[in-house]
Order: sequence, then structure tokens, then C-alpha cells
Amino acid sequence: SKDTGKNKYTLFDVTMEEELNRNSLITEVLRHAIANSEIYVVYQPQYNIRKEKLSGFEALMRINNPKLGELNPDEFIPIAEESGMITELGEWVLRESCRFNKNLIDHGFDTLTVSVNISSVQLSKANFIEIIENILEETDLPARNLELEVTESTLVSSLTNASVQLSSLQELGIMISLDDFGTGYSSLNYLTNMPINTLKIDKSFINNICSNDKDARIASGIINLAHSMKLEVIAEGVEKSEQLEVLRKHKCDMIQGYIYSKPLLPHAFFDILIPDPFK
Ligand code: C2E
Ligand code: CA
Ligand code: CA
Ligand code: CA
Repeated sequence: SKDTGKNKYTLFDVTMEEELNRNSLITEVLRHAIANSEIYVVYQPQYNIRKEKLSGFEALMRINNPKLGELNPDEFIPIAEESGMITELGEWVLRESCRFNKNLIDHGFDTLTVSVNISSVQLSKANFIEIIENILEETDLPARNLELEVTESTLVSSLTNASVQLSSLQELGIMISLDDFGTGYSSLNYLTNMPINTLKIDKSFINNICSNDKDARIASGIINLAHSMKLEVIAEGVEKSEQLEVLRKHKCDMIQGYIYSKPLLPHAFFDILIPDPFK
């Protein structure tokens, strides 16, 4: 009936309005996150399963607001990108992550790479290289201890420009990792022309690697492809020992996931490096 139709639309409008309200609420939180000290970084270890040792860690942005609580990155990152706030927040995360890794070096852990996620919005800025150079100088972190994680869609959206930018970064000594590999649109031909050091297999291929033969073959295919191009491979979202065994069998280089560790606060990260003798 007419009534039902009207109610449907009313419901739809309310939902849309709520979403818009939440979006603008989050945008406001993001705008003041740095000034209000509501932004921080957690670090998830990346483990080299061939050498049996910690190789580095991924920096993951967190926002904790007194009213909204801990925000989910999958919700706030797209809002930060749409509003342009990602440029400022991403730069804050970069500086903080470089400072943290420099602190680790000063404590004798000088081989670890910090991997920082970079949005296409950041990479498309003309002064991006300059920002990175300034941060490395300011924090005194050697370029080889920094890795940038970019996604396939980032590379596709601004193909030539992105590859030029990434080549310059590589020339500085910075590593480039292709994140969420397999979920984007890259063709193999295109992959060979991109300045990349590492391929990161997306969690969605790792989830069912033990039960789904097709996923296992995709993962093994990606690993062989990467190795044939002299790239290293890291698998993300590894949770179970069965998954780890399959990845070992297929000669995956590194893993990241709850099986080894969740993302950690800085002091907790230090704890896994330096076991407390009094604990
Ligand atoms: P991502 O780059 O693919 O990061 C991996 C995500 O998987 C992280 O979620 C991490 O906490 C989670 N994860 C790691 N191991 C496991 C596991 O074994 N099981 C499960 N279920 N999850 C695991 P998180 O921290 O919620 O971040 C989500 C996404 O938000 C990231 O996906 C990344 O795209 C984006 N993001 C986070 N921090 C930043 C940042 O500083 N800048 C930008 N541009 N994006 C960021
Ligand atoms: Ca990532
Ligand atoms: Ca992913
Ligand atoms: Ca991602």
C-alpha cells in the first residue's frame, strides 16, 4: 500500500541521515584527533619464517575518542581519505613510526623495518617525497629501516605518477610493499614495471588456505611469481598453525598475524624484544 511505501522511504531517509551524522561526527573527531591526543599507533610484528626471526612490524593507526570510543580503521580511514584528513593523520603516523623505530635502533635493534600504510591521497601530493625526506632527517631513521605499504588500487589510480614517486623513494633506500595483493586489478605485465620490493598476500586468500585447494594454489602461485621477480612475500592474517605450515611448504618468506602477535602498544612491543627478568 501507499503507507508501506512511505514508511520505507522514511526508514531509508533516517538511515541515510544517521550515516551522514556519524560521518560528520567522525570527520570532526579526525579534525581534532592530533590536537586532542586521540590518535596513536600500534605495531604488529612481521616474522621471517625462513630465518626464524623478527624482520619488522606494521604501523597501524588508532583513534580513541572519549565519546565514540575506539574507532574501527575500516570505518574511519575511508572518511579520512574523503575529507582529506588522511594527509595530516598519515604524516603524523609516519613521524611517530619512524621515531619509534629509531628508538628501537638506539636500544640495539637496528635491523627492523617499520611498514607504514600510505593512502593514494598522500602519494598523489606533489610534496610527498619531501615530507618523507624531512621525517627521516628529523627522526634520524635510516631509509632502509622504512617501508611503505601501498595498494594495487593506489598504483592504478595514478599509474605513471605513482610509479615515478615510488622509484624516487626506492632510490632513497626506502622499501615498497604491495599491500592487499590479489584483491586489486593489477595485471602481471604491469607488476613487472612497478618499483616494488615485497608482495603482501591479502588475508582473504590466507583465511581458507587449508580447506580450499583453490586458495592454496593462488597463494602458492603468488609466492612463485614473486620469487621469480626477485620480490619477497609476506602473508597477512595468519591465525592458525595449519596455515603457517602450508605457507612454509610453499616457501613464503614472512608472516604477519595473530598466530605470532596482535598489534601492540609501544611498551608491549618492547616487552617481546626484551623479556623482563623480573616477570
Ligand atoms: P591492512 O593494511 O590490510 O592491515 C591489516 C589489518 O589486518 C589490520 O587491521 C590488522 O590489525 C589486521 N590483522 C592482522 N593480523 C590479523 C589476523 O591474524 N587476523 C585478523 N582477523 N586480522 C588481522 P586494522 O588495524 O583494523 O586496519 C584495517 C585497515 O585500515 C588496514 O588494512 C589499512 O588498510 C587501514 N589502515 C590502518 N592504519 C592505517 C594508516 O596509518 N594509514 C592508512 N592509509 N591506512 C591505515
Ligand atoms: Ca597494510
Ligand atoms: Ca589487507
Ligand atoms: Ca588494506
